[in-house]
Amino acid sequence: MRCVAGLLFILLHYTGAAQSYQKIHARAIMIDTHNDFLSKAVENHYAFDSNLQGITNSDLARMKTGGVDVQVFSIFCDEHYGKGSAFAYANQELDSLYAVAGRNPYRMQIVYNYRQLMSAVKHHKLAALSGVEGGHMIEDDLSYLDSFYKRGVRYMTLTWNNSTSWATSASDESKHAFVVTPYGLNEFGKQVVKKMNEMGMMVDVSHVGEKTFWDVIQTTTKPIIASHSSVYAICPVFRNLKDDQIKAIAKNGGVIQVNFYSGFVDSNYMPRLNQFLKLHKMQQDSLAALKKPHDEILDYLFSHYKQEMEALRPPLSLLIDHIDYIVKLVGVDYVGIGADFDGSESAPQGMDGVQDYPKITQALVQRGYSKQDIFKILGGNFLRVFKANEVIH
Ligand SMILES: [Zn+2]
Repeated sequence: MRCVAGLLFILLHYTGAAQSYQKIHARAIMIDTHNDFLSKAVENHYAFDSNLQGITNSDLARMKTGGVDVQVFSIFCDEHYGKGSAFAYANQELDSLYAVAGRNPYRMQIVYNYRQLMSAVKHHKLAALSGVEGGHMIEDDLSYLDSFYKRGVRYMTLTWNNSTSWATSASDESKHAFVVTPYGLNEFGKQVVKKMNEMGMMVDVSHVGEKTFWDVIQTTTKPIIASHSSVYAICPVFRNLKDDQIKAIAKNGGVIQVNFYSGFVDSNYMPRLNQFLKLHKMQQDSLAALKKPHDEILDYLFSHYKQEMEALRPPLSLLIDHIDYIVKLVGVDYVGIGADFDGSESAPQGMDGVQDYPKITQALVQRGYSKQDIFKILGGNFLRVFKANEVIH
């Protein structure tokens, strides 16, 4: 009898926890600050309001399933776009966001400020913001920054993996491939940061080099964000954040939005991936000979070797460890979610797309986080920074 009572208790306990995590997730303002769907959309002509299950990590219906209230869409092009092309390409991606919002006025809304964001959330619409991922898209012209702001861009990642003429990237700094002297932020770079502070566009330090990072900390007058960055102490890769950087962001009142990419979450992912690629080298080489880009080759191999690909993914618990680590280091007010969905080839087990965010909430409940703390992690912390950067015109 005692045994049955015990079993009943465990069952009730777990059912209770299951209900409460779903309730918490539904009540929270869930915000993700980095999603690369728009790049895929423009390249492949995908429509966000169509069913893209099995093709992409995100679509409008699955945002609803995942309880996403606010999505910051990344505006991205790589270093092959430069002066005369990068700004135009970025605007093409913005056009595609405007087009989908225009077609779905009852399901999503492009928002420009905190008030509109809260109103969209209240009316159960996906609040859409955008962030430019790579300073090369302003083509060294501050009027382009203005133009982005007017179109609703609310953060700019100062560099992508490529340095600009005014800021060095984590990729270049870690390879000591300094393309500008002095590295870090030069005078124009500091002007960019000040201009962003003045206009109310958040400064994003994901992808920037350490020297640039510390120059930003010295220059900014507003809280900054890392829109999609994880923890170096757990996974020491070139663009994860070291403890002193995490502490500096907390001191600045900013927020670190944890990236889900397996290669940034698990330090053993890359060795496992390389082993997988070695096993399929012949196929890889023949695709490379056809001049297929690296991410397309990975997509192809992953779709053909599903079981092997599954085995490469780290457990979800390791991703939660990154959140935990930041909380233990600086407190619960400086961490959030920037999954990088549709921008990377692999995420931890169970994180197949935007529909899976409730699993994060479930895992946080299981680790003993309070409802209030979960609200902060899922969106409250980012909202605080968003508001602190806002300039009321
Ligand atoms: Zn990125």
